[in-house]
This record gives sequence, structure tokens and C-alpha cells, in this order.
Amino acid sequence: MSKKKIVIVGGVAGGASAAARARRLSEDAEIILFERGPYISFANCGLPYHIGGEIKDRDRLLVQTPESMEGRFNIDVRINSEVIKIDIENKLIEINNKARNEVYSESYDALVLSPGASAIRPPIPGIDNERIFTLRNIPDMDQINGFIAEQEVRCAVVVGGGYIGLEMVEALRNRKIEVTVVELAEQVMGPVDPEMATLLHQELRMHGVDLRLGVSVVGFDAQDNGLSITLSNDDNVLSDMVILAIGVRPENSLAKAAGLKIGELGGIVVNQHMLTSDKNIYAVGDAIEVEEFVSGKSALIPLAGPANRQGRIAADNIFGRDSVYNATQGTGICKVFNQTVGMTGLNEKLLKRFEIAYEKIYVHPAQHAGYYPGSTPISFKLLFAPESGKILGAQAVGANGVDKRIDVLAMAIRAGQTVYDLEEAELSYAPPYGSAKDVVNYAGFVASNVLKGDMGICHVDEVLNIDGSKQILVDVRTSLEFEMGSIPGSINVPVDLLRLHLADLPRDRELLVYCRVGLRGYIASRILQQHGFNVRNLSGGYTTYKMVVDDASLEWVQSMCSDTGEISCAGDIPNDVAVHIDACGVQCPGPIQKLKQALDELEHGEMLSIATSDPGFVNDAPAWCKTTGHEFIEMVVQDGSYITTIRKNSGLGDKSNAKFTNVAAKQAMTIVLFSGDFDKAMAAFIIANGAATMGYEVTIFSTFWGLNVLRKHSPIKVQKNLIEKMMGKMMPRGANKVALSKMHMLGMGTKMIKGIMKKKQVASLPDLIADAKEAGVKLVGCSMTMDMMGIRQEELLDGVEKGGVAMYLNKAGEGSLNLFI
Ligand code: FAD
Repeated sequence: MSKKKIVIVGGVAGGASAAARARRLSEDAEIILFERGPYISFANCGLPYHIGGEIKDRDRLLVQTPESMEGRFNIDVRINSEVIKIDIENKLIEINNKARNEVYSESYDALVLSPGASAIRPPIPGIDNERIFTLRNIPDMDQINGFIAEQEVRCAVVVGGGYIGLEMVEALRNRKIEVTVVELAEQVMGPVDPEMATLLHQELRMHGVDLRLGVSVVGFDAQDNGLSITLSNDDNVLSDMVILAIGVRPENSLAKAAGLKIGELGGIVVNQHMLTSDKNIYAVGDAIEVEEFVSGKSALIPLAGPANRQGRIAADNIFGRDSVYNATQGTGICKVFNQTVGMTGLNEKLLKRFEIAYEKIYVHPAQHAGYYPGSTPISFKLLFAPESGKILGAQAVGANGVDKRIDVLAMAIRAGQTVYDLEEAELSYAPPYGSAKDVVNYAGFVASNVLKGDMGICHVDEVLNIDGSKQILVDVRTSLEFEMGSIPGSINVPVDLLRLHLADLPRDRELLVYCRVGLRGYIASRILQQHGFNVRNLSGGYTTYKMVVDDASLEWVQSMCSDTGEISCAGDIPNDVAVHIDACGVQCPGPIQKLKQALDELEHGEMLSIATSDPGFVNDAPAWCKTTGHEFIEMVVQDGSYITTIRKNSGLGDKSNAKFTNVAAKQAMTIVLFSGDFDKAMAAFIIANGAATMGYEVTIFSTFWGLNVLRKHSPIKVQKNLIEKMMGKMMPRGANKVALSKMHMLGMGTKMIKGIMKKKQVASLPDLIADAKEAGVKLVGCSMTMDMMGIRQEELLDGVEKGGVAMYLNKAGEGSLNLFI
């Protein structure tokens, strides 16, 4: 048998793989590899990282050279050689040797086409300007690098927010170039759903990127020293250079001219053996249409992994091996500054478009044990069939560990697994790497709970369109978290107090509960469900809600960026902070609790900084400052953590912002003032006033000796019997008369302490009581003790109400703090 002659068009991912595999299968075959450009087998995926400076040595991108390929694989590599024609009938190709300016022919027994895809350049006026670049290969990269260096580029526009666009954004920012991204869609990174992309928008803005979403470029105008770029919303952006990254289209011209079948999407049509409509021609890589694994529909999915595998399969089939390519899942990953986004299978947009029934859940667990340093959250979205639980797709965004989870899910989808299999997945675990219940298990638990009916879930769109007559939103987080922001219209009943408030919750309405990420919501929904309530839990909780609705609130980041231009720059944290708190790895509400505790210790006007690794804090910190009245100074990104500086202020906060009613568990505290001692009464009123300024609704319930603190100074004429008169005379009348609990020393000690207080400008007890009244603290005299001691309402300070045990219990039940002094 004569030896086979294999000719390959395209010398990078698919082409080089096919060539190497062909040689491994046959030492006899004649193999010729034609490459239009000057390089073969280069790492196109690494190009942005050389521009950004991470890959310093350019030669590292050249995985194989023609010489090394010839030496190891005995392959005839011909660079600068463009295949310009295929003669199917005679099994001939025509080649243009650009270096020698020579056109010649070559025969083949089997032809493999791996010509890749070309960058889309739409016919926008001015598109041919020399300042506009695309990035596909080494010469493109060299041009971009050369231009940046020679022209001392200071600002660039990246058109398109997909993989290559975002990688270029980071590369340019690494080189201290101001970057504007123009993206036609309302989100970057089209392969994920919009709410997942919100986290990327935040990250981009945090790194000083000017994000223009929902607009396109309508024209490029050459200026003296740059370009004026006109957008579809009539905005103009001036720039030194433009990177065009709006997608690629299959290089199909050669195949089309040869009469090979081209699909509706413009890719070369192949069967599972990578064979085209001609029995001697195979095609692989970005140039072909593939079957999408989940839907079975045709798709263009230009990724390196599939291209490499397809090249290998084509070679197998040429040598009689029955290798089959079994569809593409679109498993992808991309680094966006400190965040990573990954996805596999179908996204929600495509499931809707293909009318495939699905359910979805969100979880936001830490990527490894929270107690091990450096833990960061992963926002994970799982899409699955509502009946069988079969996994349809997954998306994740986080600082670390996204690759592991997406790869596990990619295998699960490939194996046709269900959410129940995720529950059972036994994944590697030690604290630095994961959790005993991994993100993947956790997503499986939640999805299985939904399918088994253990937990009904709702989604943000439903919460946004809530029917108030039939439904009520219940926030089961702590009051501190609620204070930081909540879904408008919701009431706050912390999960730990839920059982106390069952009677307050309506049974004629559906309860939509939510917490931070869905876990406490799940616990709450189990409690409520078992008490006969109609309840559903918001999947992914408030975190998912913010991802869906709150992109605009990140404008504060944008505004800081435009002021300083460099929000991401390390080293500009004010150096006069009094305290630095490390809350990295601590999950919400941990960071805000630590922050509050530390602020409580500070004097007014002092500053602290807090480092967190939870990107949710980017929004939480300014929101919390706004409601509590502390001053948000700035946030900088340093080594993957967010460092926020805050100045302690009056704590008055923006109460006008409170747009929700909080009927069940108000931010309320009660103090039982039992003692009539001067020092204890002082403590009670200091706490009450502090809490009132923090926004608490405070009630002081005075009973027994505590009633004396609220008595008027001068005697009031009221009807009393003898005993009552005697009691009244024996007891101190009012705040000025009460005595120290210790060291009273016949009045000397109390007098002394009052003197010291005056000197140190500490408010007196009557002043504190007046302040409390002013701040709205409710003062209640215990009716039973008043009767017993013969104290009449008229004898108490104006505004003091009379109340019994029921009133006290009711008030205490409403709040989360109850002190007995
Ligand atoms: P290519 O690798 O593009 O090779 C095609 C070659 O064919 C080209 O060199 C071209 O010059 C040559 N050619 C075309 N026509 C002819 C002709 N008529 N005659 C001779 N030669 C011809 N994918 C990922 O999965 N992950 C990533 O992180 C990633 N990052 C990327 C970053 C960049 C900047 C780019 C450009 C791509 C990236 N990709 C990534 C995509 C991935 O590189 C491609 O999917 C993969 O290279 C496709 O392989 P291919 O063989 O089909 O085409």
C-alpha cells in the first residue's frame, strides 16, 4: 500500500494537533502543514498576557517552531504559505508562497482544514484607521505592543466585552492605560447570564474601567493625535487606540469556494468524525459548526480545547480509527482582574430561547473553609431540568476556586448527571482547598431540596413584582444586615426570633423569605412551613437580588474612579487610620459586625480601615455608612482584598432612606430600670441615648426603685393615704436626688462624682433624661409598682407613660435587645 499523503491547512491549535497525532499514528505518512502566517503552534490564548506583562518572555508563546515540529515529528512545515484553492475533483490544493511570491499545487489523499476564525470588522466609518487593532496572532500582538510603546498610549477603547476584550482590558490597565469598554449588550461576557456579569461589572469599575454598556460604536474619526469614537447614544470618547474584540466568524472562504457544505451559522459542516461533505476532507476548530451538547443544536463555539481534540479525532479517522467527537459544551473561563468567571453547558438566556424547561438555584458559599485564611465567596448558578434534575448548565464567579467547580460540573454534564449526583460527589477536601460540603455539593443539596419539595423557592423577578395583597416579603437576616440594605417593602424578622413572632405573621398571604445567601432563608422556610405557613425562599438571597437589580448602585465606584483615575492603585490608604481590621475570609455579616465593634471603640472623627475579601462588601460598606452616618472615605483594591477606610461620625445616618416598614422585629431595645441608683440610672440612659442615635426604638420600663429616677423634683399635690405619704417622703424624688450605689458616703461620694462629671463635661442625669426624651426614647412607669408605692402619674416627669407587664413583654418581644439594670 502506498504511503498516505496528508495535507493540513492552518498550523495552530487544530492543525498542529492533527499533524502531531497523524505522525504518532503513522511513521510512513507524508504530512505537510501549511500556515499562512510566519508562526505555527503559538499560544494565542497567551497573547493578552504578554501584552499585559504577565508572560514576560515572548518566546514562551511559541510552543513549537517549524524546526522543532520538523525535528520531532518529521512534518514538512511550510510557513508564509496560504492555501488559496481546493480542487476537490482532483484532490489538489493551490498554495501562494508569499515569501517567494510563488503559486504552486500539491496533491493530497486526506486534507484537514483548520483555518480558524477571523476577527469581525464591521463596516463602521473610519474602521480602517491605523489606530484600530484586532488580536488573533503573534504579528497582531507585536503590532499592539509596538504601538503602545512608540505612541506612549495613555487611553484606549476596547470594543466588545467578551473573553478577548476583557483579557485585553486587564492587560491595558496593567500597563497603566485608561480603558473604556464599549459593549452593545447590557452586560459583558455574553456566555453568562446578566446577573452573573454584574459581579464582573463591579470588578471592572473597581479597577478604573469606564464601562459603557448597551451602546455601540457608530464612527471613528481621526484626530491630530488620536481617535474620536462616536457611540450610538451620541457620546464621544477620545482615545489613543482601539482594540476591536466584537467576536469572530469562521474562516469559511476556502471551503465555500471548494463547494463544501456550509451551515446556517457560517461554519463548515462536519459529521462526528470531523468529515466535511467531501469524503477526503476533514475540518476542525473555530471554522466548523459543532453540535451543542445540551440542546443538540448547531453552534459556533470557538475554544482551544475542542479545536485540539477535533484535530486529534480527524487524524484518528484518517488512519481508520473510529474516533467520534461528541459535541461541545462551551466550558470556558476568564480572569477579570481579581475575579474569575467560568461556565459550562447552557445559560438561562439560551434555555429560554430554545424553550427548554429549566429550574435554577444560586448559592454563594466560600470556596474553602472560612476559618482558613484567604477564603472568598463563589457565586454559583446551577440550571437543571425541573422534572429529572438533569444538569443543564452552570456558571460561577469568584476570586478563587471557580475553575475546580466549573470543571466538576463540566464532567457532570458530560456524564448526563443530575443534581442528586452533585449531592453525592466526593471531592477532595482540606481547609486550604475546599469545605467538607463543597460548593458543588451545596448546590446539589439546594437543588435537590427544591425538587423534593423540601423548600419552595422564588426568584428575584417575582420579588420585584410582588403582589402585596397576596404576598409579603420577610427578611430573616439580623437587624444589622437589614440596616445595611434590604429589598423594598420587606419586613425584618431575624431567623432566631422567628418562632417568637409566628403570631405576627399573616397566614392569609404567601411569605417570600430571604436572607443573605439563602441558607437562613431555608431554615426560616422550614420553620414556617412546619407551622403551616405558605412560604418560599428567595434563591441566593439578598446577594442574588443585588446582582440582579443593583448594578446602578455601583456608580459610586465609577465616580471615585473618574476623580482619582486609579481606584485600584495600592498604597493610597490614608496613613492616619487609628485601627486596621483584617476581615479577609470572614463572610457577611462578619465584616460589618467587626467594623461596628471597632467603630464603637473609636472617638468621633477617628478613622479605621478594614480589609475584606468578600466583593459584596464593596456595596455594603457605603450603604451601611449612609444609614449610620459614618463617613465612607474610600475603598482600594490591594492584593485581591478590598480595603475600606471609614471615619467615625455622629451616627445619625440617613433615616429618610428608610423606605420599608418593619412591623415584626423592629430595631428595638428595652431597658428595665429596676435600680434607683444614680450610677445605674446613668448607665441606662447613656445606653438608651446611644441606641436611639443608632436608630433603635428604645423603651425604658421603670419599676420599683427605678421609678424614683423619673419623679419630678418638686412635690406635687396629690391625694395619698398615710403609708403612701410616708413612702413618698422616704424615697428620693427625681434624678437629682438619687445616690451612688457604692461610696455614697452620706452624699459626699455622689457629690464628688457629680463634680468630676461637670469638670469632664459629662452630661448630668437630668440632661441625659431630657436628651432621651428628645431622641424619642419611650419612658414607661410600671403601673403595678406605682400603685404599690403610691406614686401617681402626675408625680412623674411629663411624657412618662404608664404601662403594665403586657406592655413590657410586647415591647421586649419586638426588639432584639433587652437589658435589666
Ligand atoms: P487557530 O488556532 O486560529 O489557527 C488557524 C490558523 O490557520 C491561523 O494561524 C491562520 O493563519 C491559518 N490559516 C487560515 N487560513 C489559512 C489558509 N488558507 N492557508 C494557510 N493557513 C491558514 N480559547 C480558549 O479555549 N481559552 C482561551 O483562553 C482562549 N484565549 C484566546 C485568546 C486570544 C487572543 C485568541 C485569539 C483566541 C483565544 N482562544 C481561547 C481561542 C482559541 O485560540 C481558538 O479557539 C483556537 O486557537 C482555534 O483553533 P483553530 O486551529 O481552529 O484556529
